[in-house]
Amino acid sequence: MNFFELKSGVLHAENVALTDIAEQYGTPCYVYSKQALTQAFNDFQAGLSTTDHLICFAVKANPNIAVLNVFAQLGAGFDIVSGGELARVLAAGGDPKKVVFSGVGKTADEMRAALGAGILCFNVESASELVRLNQVAEGMGKVAPVSLRVNPNVDAKTHPYISTGLKNNKFGVAIDDAVPVYQKAAAMPNIAVHGVDCHIGSQITEIAPFIDALDRVLGLVEVLEDHKIHISHIDVGGGIGITYDNETPPEFKQYTQAILEKLNKKQVKLLFEPGRALVGNAGVLLTKVEYLKLAESKNFAIVDAAMNDLMRPALYDAYHDIVPAQTRGGEKTVYEIVGPVCETGDFLGHDRALNLRENDILVVKSAGAYAMSMASNYNTRARAPEIMVDNNQCHIVREREQITDLFALERKMP
Ligand SMILES: *Cc1c(COP(=O)(O)O)cnc(C)c1O
Repeated sequence: MNFFELKSGVLHAENVALTDIAEQYGTPCYVYSKQALTQAFNDFQAGLSTTDHLICFAVKANPNIAVLNVFAQLGAGFDIVSGGELARVLAAGGDPKKVVFSGVGKTADEMRAALGAGILCFNVESASELVRLNQVAEGMGKVAPVSLRVNPNVDAKTHPYISTGLKNNKFGVAIDDAVPVYQKAAAMPNIAVHGVDCHIGSQITEIAPFIDALDRVLGLVEVLEDHKIHISHIDVGGGIGITYDNETPPEFKQYTQAILEKLNKKQVKLLFEPGRALVGNAGVLLTKVEYLKLAESKNFAIVDAAMNDLMRPALYDAYHDIVPAQTRGGEKTVYEIVGPVCETGDFLGHDRALNLRENDILVVKSAGAYAMSMASNYNTRARAPEIMVDNNQCHIVREREQITDLFALERKMP
């Protein structure tokens, strides 16, 4: 079910017209659908009823505490990559006992905060991190539960910037080197080995790379068992893609079924870390057309959202569908959809055929993941507000930043 639908020629989020939201809250503005978040989570979970599992939403995809709170109420756990994300999860009402902590550069302070909160597991990414975690845990009189993030060396066939499972990137420990690291971990007094973790990349649209990775992880689990190291959970990471344009990612049911088949009834708890797949198509970015600039070689629609609001096109050359909030017939013109930021890379879309007028509201779709979470204040632009729609109600879940906030921490020299 799609929660962003045309009704009488106006695009709605659930039962609220996006034109009304633009009018009331201004643009640029992020809009999320609570129903879309809820349905994505429930759909993901539907294929897992026969298996001991935990779905840990990857906070970095959309860290707004209202989004986290919706998932927490549905029973989700969380995958965090910083102490800041841990603080958000706790503020949002998330259960620390359902939190896994990933990331290659955890500081001692972050480890202390996570141990203090009593998280479920540290996904350790190097032998040195293990040594530090053992020391930090010892200092607190605690035992740190760990998985080793292994790098299964599979090609996720995604954009190189979001591929993480190949040999030559910074994440995890090469799977062929994992056994001695596990043996070290098992011998450390303040470390308890719980699991094996892998995460091979993002926006993956085929099942095969996930299954190849799991196959290698299961091989490792067997070898570890031969070494009397027992693994109680396997964390298969996140990375399932969504449809931005014409991609055809696997449905959640196909994906979870393929994982369960590969697992072949092995008694082990399954952890998942989906981010994009739960939120990406549950959000849109509203922007207003400021100027139409018609030129001989190219036409530009200059809109009030920019690369600081939505970085994905500039960063990854990512495609986002852009549609008018209110349909209008008539002849279309091909536009570059660009923002006001002083960079040639500041575009939201290339070659879009639209019938536009100044002050029209455009809807940048699939903007629920890695969108607001990557926003910046470049060009001293205040970040957009976030609105969560629930049926016919709008809730402001993040206020628009004030310009004075942007330099409130700055000081002139005496
Ligand atoms: C970013 C990330 C995820 C989520 O990836 P998606 O592609 O958004 O599903 C999961 N696990 C780890 C370790 C990550 O870094």
